[in-house]
Amino acid sequence: MSDTSDVVLIGAGIMSSTLGVLLKELEPNLNIAMFEALQDCAQESSEAWNNAGTGHAANCEMNYTPERPDGSVDISKALEVNVEFDLSRQLWSYLVRRGAIKDPRSFLHPVPHMSFVRGPENVAFLKKRFAAMAAHHCYHGMEYSEDHRTIEQWAPLIMEGRSPDEQVAATRIITGTDVDYGSLTHHLVNHLVGLSGFTVQYRHRVTNLVRDTTGRWRVDVEDMSTGEVRSVTAKFVFIGAGGGALPLLQKSGIPEGRGYGGFPVSGIWLRCDDPAISGRHHAKVYGKAAVGSPPMSVPHLDARIIGGQHSLLFGPYAGFSSKFLKHGSLLDLFESIETSNVIPLLSVARDNFPLTEYLIGQLMLTPHQRFRTLQEYYPNAKQDGWQLQVAGQRVQIIKPDQQHGGLLEFGTELVAAEDRSIVGLLGASPGASTAAFIAIGVLQKCFPQELTASGWLPKLKEIIPSYGVSLIDDAEMTKRVRAETAQVLKIENV
Ligand SMILES: Cc1cc2nc3c(=O)[nH]c(=O)nc-3n(C[C@H](O)[C@H](O)[C@H](O)COP(=O)(O)OP(=O)(O)OC[C@H]3O[C@@H](n4cnc5c(N)ncnc54)[C@H](O)[C@@H]3O)c2cc1C
Repeated sequence: MSDTSDVVLIGAGIMSSTLGVLLKELEPNLNIAMFEALQDCAQESSEAWNNAGTGHAANCEMNYTPERPDGSVDISKALEVNVEFDLSRQLWSYLVRRGAIKDPRSFLHPVPHMSFVRGPENVAFLKKRFAAMAAHHCYHGMEYSEDHRTIEQWAPLIMEGRSPDEQVAATRIITGTDVDYGSLTHHLVNHLVGLSGFTVQYRHRVTNLVRDTTGRWRVDVEDMSTGEVRSVTAKFVFIGAGGGALPLLQKSGIPEGRGYGGFPVSGIWLRCDDPAISGRHHAKVYGKAAVGSPPMSVPHLDARIIGGQHSLLFGPYAGFSSKFLKHGSLLDLFESIETSNVIPLLSVARDNFPLTEYLIGQLMLTPHQRFRTLQEYYPNAKQDGWQLQVAGQRVQIIKPDQQHGGLLEFGTELVAAEDRSIVGLLGASPGASTAAFIAIGVLQKCFPQELTASGWLPKLKEIIPSYGVSLIDDAEMTKRVRAETAQVLKIENV
């Protein structure tokens, strides 16, 4: 292991690997060292079954389209998420064209995205939501129906066994995707390993980060096989450690990280691999979260295609575990408490009672009650053939807030040092789908001097042709980028 590097990437999930790929494309001479505590890449949240694999384009997730007090539907957040996914599509297309990813079908499949609601109030909401979305070019091709037979054609399992009198509605967009982020991460890391100047060390845990007198970072790394601790110095460090990012940000001691805390939420899926059932459901069907429950609790019945096998996933059922990573320690939450984040943590505990209630409710569910929730979406579901699958951990961000003491956030945030030498990624939603957007955010925050017309900009525009253009405003560009990426990635275009 070299003891100096230009860049250290902590963690071998989708975020570090995406940033690594972008950096090497923009500056092939960079020396990059990646350290991963586990025995391979993509073993935590980025692993296929640890997440839902939705290519989040805010097509079907109703939590991104809140109702305003005047009854109209606000689609501004959905539009942001929608075009962030376009950045990932462009990066992946570039990598396919470049030969870095041989076959897009090894990680990406066309799977229609649907929203599905029951009852007059929810139907009225979905109708208004559809009207607002379908009027925008980003949602061109979205369909709406209240007709049982039409919805049954779109997704038979959710309609069979349902009373013909039940009022239901659904939207569908056939350009949706299912993504195996684990497979994608493997592609990215394998590609990086083939480039000179890139190394990845598995079973190597970063234990400390110290800024030296020259402004470089000393990264202490423990070889978990021998217990030996070595140090690497780097000009730039990306803390892409998923749930492990908060403790490392705290160790770095940068003032920008002060006051942040984390609230871990664990998840469970119901999974069915029976081809007689999974072969009849080819959609991701998102419902509406119960009142008071957090956005990540939205129930969905998803087609998954992992390693060539078609399966069904339903959930998530939330739980509480004090671990920040699935392979983490039960002490993670307690060890993250420091004087600077006590007030934010206590304020969030005080102000988010509905979340506590929701989590307790989820923990108390019996297997029978859990199955009843599935039957709300798939009325004829039989217990046989369904098994529990433990999902990844999500660490929600708790950040200091002058007015409330602390706020609980369900998004992601890049926390960078003022001198741009280190940045950590906190939070988990919309997640892996927006890895390219997040990596570009790192470039903009930390490499503004390189991101110029005489520097990295021309290459970045070759990789991401829409870079610098708002796809929310530019209908022509959106149409072009979507048509081109759909063709390369073998997904649907409308
Ligand atoms: C239940 C659930 C459902 C989700 N559904 C979706 C979805 O449908 N669509 C979507 O886009 N996103 C989804 N996400 C979010 C998505 O999975 C994450 O945003 C994404 O995988 C995070 O990638 P990452 O690289 O930051 O983290 P990870 O994949 O967790 O990788 C971080 C890596 O860092 C390593 N690490 C940690 N600490 C250290 C250390 N000290 N030293 C060395 N290595 C370390 C870990 O071992 C791990 O391998 C979901 C997440 C969950 C939990």
